[in-house]
Amino acid sequence: QDRTVDAADLAALSGRTIAVLGFGNQGAAQAANLRDSGLAPVVGNREDEYVAGAREQGFDVRSIAEAAAAADIALLLVPDEVQPDLVRDEVAPGLRAGDTLVVASGYNWHFGLLAVPDGVDVVMVAPRMIGAAVRDRYVDRHGFPCFVSVERDATGHAWDTTLAVARAIGGTLGGAIVSSAREEAALDLFSEQAVWPAILDVVRTAHRVAVEAGFSEEAVLNELYLSAEPAEVFAHVAREGLFGQLGLHSRTSQYGQLRSLAALDEQGELARRFTRVMHDDILSGAFAREWSRPEAGEQLEALHREAAASPIAAAEAEVRARLGT
Ligand code: NDP
Repeated sequence: QDRTVDAADLAALSGRTIAVLGFGNQGAAQAANLRDSGLAPVVGNREDEYVAGAREQGFDVRSIAEAAAAADIALLLVPDEVQPDLVRDEVAPGLRAGDTLVVASGYNWHFGLLAVPDGVDVVMVAPRMIGAAVRDRYVDRHGFPCFVSVERDATGHAWDTTLAVARAIGGTLGGAIVSSAREEAALDLFSEQAVWPAILDVVRTAHRVAVEAGFSEEAVLNELYLSAEPAEVFAHVAREGLFGQLGLHSRTSQYGQLRSLAALDEQGELARRFTRVMHDDILSGAFAREWSRPEAGEQLEALHREAAASPIAAAEAEVRARLGT
């Protein structure tokens, strides 16, 4: 099934004031791209050094509340964790029926954390790209993957607005991908809570086993990641495929990798754990409720301290100090 869309029309934006709320990683990049697409975005930000940067670049900078009130289309580009309170206190009061709120990630909307007035369209235009590259890939016309969806179509023409905003920030250069806040949020959380912990655990366990087998910290950590070889391999995975890149390894390596992979149980404990994370933690909303608790920030700090005190972190610090890296 072809899930890409490309033909978008900026006409849906004509005569409508666009506000970029938050001039951070995404906000600075998207505001510049909107302007180079022939639009005149208003920037909303708190008074600080970012605002000075925005003014130097010639943007019309106002407070977030003023920019939201001026906007027919408001791009919400502040960090996810501040969005619920900011929308309630400063953004929602400025939105009127017929306006559009554009989110760049699905989390808060999908988990019911954004109070958006009735009659306001809610859409998602979510670049799968860091802000700096959103700008660079607009300038060089390479484009970037961009998830788009209509979450609430109060006006009946929310799709036109969505595709036009996506096009104006450069999000259709590479073909936007029709998705949903639920899909975007769930897949992000799944990577964060299933895939990356498994990868970190693999590295941590490999380090422990290899050091216990008598090999030096320096050799083990370089083999595992300090050499940046895994980053090289993943770059080739993206270009040549998960198995296509195996040709870059020795035949001994190919045989070792494939025989060991074949011996692993695809339906085993890892699959059961990933399924539990997807359904019990993420799709049920349990994680979102846990992370919304006031004490969650302190728990994050405690988890950081625990990770920093682990044997692999201590070994890494020692090896780096010795090598001066
Ligand atoms: P940043 O952390 O770069 O955004 C910071 C901006 O938000 C700054 O302008 C900052 O203002 C403002 N801000 C921070 N806290 C507050 C607050 N309490 N009240 C008012 N303004 C505040 O965010 P990102 O650009 O990384 O993320 C924006 C959105 O884009 C998020 O929804 C994110 O999920 C999404 N996204 C991010 C991607 C990325 O690669 N970064 C990729 C795709 C989507 P100040 O200068 O005053 O601190």
